[in-house]
Amino acid sequence: MKHEHIVRSVEQGGIAWEMGIEPGDKLLAINGTEIEDVFDYHYLVNDEELLVLIEKTNGEQWELEIEKEYEEDLGIEFEQGLMDEYRSCRNKCIFCFIDQMPPGMRETLYFKDDDSRLSFLQGNYVTLTNMSDHDIDRIIRYHLEPINVSIHTTNPELRCKMLHNRFAGDALKKIDRLYEGGIQMNGQIVLCKGINDGEELERSIRDMSKYFPTLQSVSIVPVGLSKYRDGLYPLDPFTKEDALKVLDTIHRWQEKFYEEYGMHFIHAGDEWYILAEQEVPLANRYDGYLQLENGVGMLRLLHDEFEEAFLAATGDDKKRELSMATGVLAYPYIGQMLERMKEKFPNTKVHLYCIRNDFFGERITVAGLLTGQDLVAQLKGRALGETLLLPVSMFRNGEEVFLDDYTKEDVANALQVPIDIVKSSGQDFIEMIIDR
Ligand code: SF4
Repeated sequence: MKHEHIVRSVEQGGIAWEMGIEPGDKLLAINGTEIEDVFDYHYLVNDEELLVLIEKTNGEQWELEIEKEYEEDLGIEFEQGLMDEYRSCRNKCIFCFIDQMPPGMRETLYFKDDDSRLSFLQGNYVTLTNMSDHDIDRIIRYHLEPINVSIHTTNPELRCKMLHNRFAGDALKKIDRLYEGGIQMNGQIVLCKGINDGEELERSIRDMSKYFPTLQSVSIVPVGLSKYRDGLYPLDPFTKEDALKVLDTIHRWQEKFYEEYGMHFIHAGDEWYILAEQEVPLANRYDGYLQLENGVGMLRLLHDEFEEAFLAATGDDKKRELSMATGVLAYPYIGQMLERMKEKFPNTKVHLYCIRNDFFGERITVAGLLTGQDLVAQLKGRALGETLLLPVSMFRNGEEVFLDDYTKEDVANALQVPIDIVKSSGQDFIEMIIDR
């Protein structure tokens, strides 16, 4: 199959720009090798000496000799982010969140990807049911890592049932291949009550530990249940007692692994601690926060960063009044941080609001799944002060748009208050309050 990679943009002052590569040009080959997708490109482009074959928009072919530092990028973005079509998943997982989304949202939000190239590039978790032997060969040959794997269970029959895919059990063997190839992996288990918890979870943890340290961490997160589950596999929410049991299991294994390997290996998502009404563990339990993006250790890190910045901050008695909104999950933690702020900033008043997720349903507690319409409905008429601070996780990557397509401006206009976005760091948290 012929692969066509059209240049979308060229970084000004970068290597490609200096060589005269322009938007619309096509990349045909590097060092005589045709590029299949971003895997090939990432690998081939690393060399110090490159022979890059480009087709200009007028049909001319240019052969460019490039000398550069090892791993230095050429500064090219392609029309297709993966330099290929995005691969959709072949599963029908009983816990899939996309199946639980309300109708009428942007079409791209319903796209189910399960693409190993996104795992490498963006840290997405893949089930391996979609990964061909050819992909695995390339991952090993090019040493592309880490690869994040949605394991869910190591029981092959149960995995077929959970992923609703008769090949899902066999796909676990691909972990063996990646392990033998020395490819660093992180795993995750989405825990479903009465399905892959209890004895099944014990089995999974035991089985996965044999891949340590190539498999460097495994997170266990509770299934997210929205209110749109009609016609879907019946799944029950976890209770406080369930969460306590899950944490017991995780902590017991953590101790064992820490004794044996000096790492905790298995990690509980923050949601378990909130559900169990327990304090989140200290930082050293997170082995360097290997799965922060997956909601593992975020609350601890935020707290510790805040404390560090708070201790370094010079207090003042300036009068300020502003507001902040977050989801049910982070609310008590943010509340504690604001209480602490009063010690050094006694005249700073921050109204903190806990936003219920009416859009997806109350069981969804993370700030990242709150929508513009819930913010407007629940903050209308409330004291908001000079500005409303919202966490960056509420917005789509790099854009000022909520999941329901409301923009930051829409919400600011509806609430008649300017909105500032707070990055997910304790330092930014303080700065945005005292020093905007
Ligand atoms: S792999 Fe499963 S959870 Fe992920 S998108 Fe596909 S069906 Fe949904």
